[in-house]
Amino acid sequence: MPSSFRTLRLGLIILLILVGTSLSAGWAMHQAKRQAMETDARRASQQLGLYANALHTLIERYRALPAVLALDPELIAALRGPVTKQVQDALNRKLERINGAANSSTLELLDRTGLAIAASNWRLPTTYVGSNYGFRPYFKQTRSQGSGRFYAVGVTSGVPGYFLASAVDDEQGRFLGAMVVKLEFPELEREWRQGSDILLVSDARGITFIANQDGWRYRELQPLSGADRAELAETRQYDKQPLVPLQHQALTRFTDTSHLTRVQGPDGTAEYLWERLPLEAEGWTLHLLRKPQVAEDGRNAALAAAAVWLSLVFAALFVSQRLRLARLRQRSREELKRQVEERTRELRTAQEGLVQSAKLAALGQMSAALAHEINQPLTTQRMQLETLRLLLDHGRHDEARQALEPLEQMLTRMAALTGHLKTFARNSPGGLRERLDLATVVDQALHLLDTRIRAEGVEVALYLARPAWVRGDAIRLEQVLINLLRNALDAMADKRYKRLEIRIEADDGQWRLSVLDSGGGILATDLCRVFDPFFTTKPVGEGLGLGLAISYGIVVDAGGHLQVENLAGGARFSLTLPRDLETVC
Ligand code: ADP
Repeated sequence: MPSSFRTLRLGLIILLILVGTSLSAGWAMHQAKRQAMETDARRASQQLGLYANALHTLIERYRALPAVLALDPELIAALRGPVTKQVQDALNRKLERINGAANSSTLELLDRTGLAIAASNWRLPTTYVGSNYGFRPYFKQTRSQGSGRFYAVGVTSGVPGYFLASAVDDEQGRFLGAMVVKLEFPELEREWRQGSDILLVSDARGITFIANQDGWRYRELQPLSGADRAELAETRQYDKQPLVPLQHQALTRFTDTSHLTRVQGPDGTAEYLWERLPLEAEGWTLHLLRKPQVAEDGRNAALAAAAVWLSLVFAALFVSQRLRLARLRQRSREELKRQVEERTRELRTAQEGLVQSAKLAALGQMSAALAHEINQPLTTQRMQLETLRLLLDHGRHDEARQALEPLEQMLTRMAALTGHLKTFARNSPGGLRERLDLATVVDQALHLLDTRIRAEGVEVALYLARPAWVRGDAIRLEQVLINLLRNALDAMADKRYKRLEIRIEADDGQWRLSVLDSGGGILATDLCRVFDPFFTTKPVGEGLGLGLAISYGIVVDAGGHLQVENLAGGARFSLTLPRDLETVC
């Protein structure tokens, strides 16, 4: 694989890991955030219910108060008749007492025109007494429907509050005026300020008028129409309070009344979980705004998802790497096997060639020896033939006949030598199992090496049991023996004492042929290696290291053993072959 492709592949994998990690982390964070917010929204919705209950209970506590007071004959009488200073004073004090007892903010009595004829706050400079509230919707509602309610900022006091009104009628049910109780919510707002949530109450037009935090009151949650503005001006509901729009944008919707919303509030832009709860009885809406607390959960989820994703990626990479390695290993095993087979084939061919060349080399050496062996008798014979001719010329027939005898012997010996050479050079087929006498094999081998043995002055001691019948290939066994003898002669070449001992002995159903020399033996470390192919200690060009390896193979082929040991200042090679039983007969 080219390295640029590998780099590209690595780059792609890293990119995939990074993109995958950030995607999975982002997705997990989003999911965790959403889940946490949904849980938060459910909790907020329950809390909102509790806040609504508190508000509702507070209002309910005073709802019946104006109706009950409207039944007071003193009030009815006052509204019916002319209101003197004493009457007004008495009424003021009465309302003040009741207001104190009921713990409401203010109590006031309006006549049929909406003029406040008595009020609990008569002592204050901002008292309602003497002001006309005929323009206020709650008065109009009370006059037409018997009761009214309205949240407004007090035009006289400037203090906002919820006005609950009930009609004061005479016995005939004629409208005389209205009894009004005003509730203010500073306590409630203070109580709601405890938590970190923002709590708002908005009217039907979406204007907030109760808030537990500064800056959130008198905000328009939705745009006001022209009619709305005209009506607000007329009823002076929020009087001089400036109304400021509150910008907000829903981001995620959980339910109809629950959204994740971005709000441009008085404290800057922030995201809130915004819960709404309509308060049916008053026509208001209660709002709860809570900052989402999901950063930690989201981070943890993102980390967990990233860890899972990375684990999966690394597991996948690990598995693919293992598979790739297994594939590579399989491929290299096959490649190795193929190479081994190829090398084995080459080696076998080379070995076969070497065996043949070793044979040819031996043949060459023998040819030289033979040439020398034959040359000598040929010269002698030529001289003897000359002598013979002279003897015949002089008619000395008897002497001539005598001179023929050595000639004949020499010819016989030469014929024997060439015969050996012919049989040795033949590429003998393996596995031949002819019946043969080991002693004869020794004779033949010695015959071939006779010249060298005599030239080098080697003493030969023979202890041959004969006949020593075995089964095998005579030519090959002779090759083995020549090899053993030649190695022994080589080992003794530079020794002063040269002795060769050849034995054939019977040994437990076998014939043992041993060749012992006085060449100094073999190094202990080499003993186990002499039968290895190409192991030689001879100089380059003199030894191929194949002789013993081939010999070993030949002997084993014939069902025997070839062993070596150091003995009495030399090496002893022992060749054992099973006795051929037919020889007994
Ligand atoms: P080569 O004769 O070509 O070296 P061989 O296989 O016939 O190959 O012999 C291997 C080696 O064994 C020889 O080089 C020699 O070191 C050792 N060896 C064999 N016969 C004898 C011996 N009779 N004495 C000492 N060393 C021997």
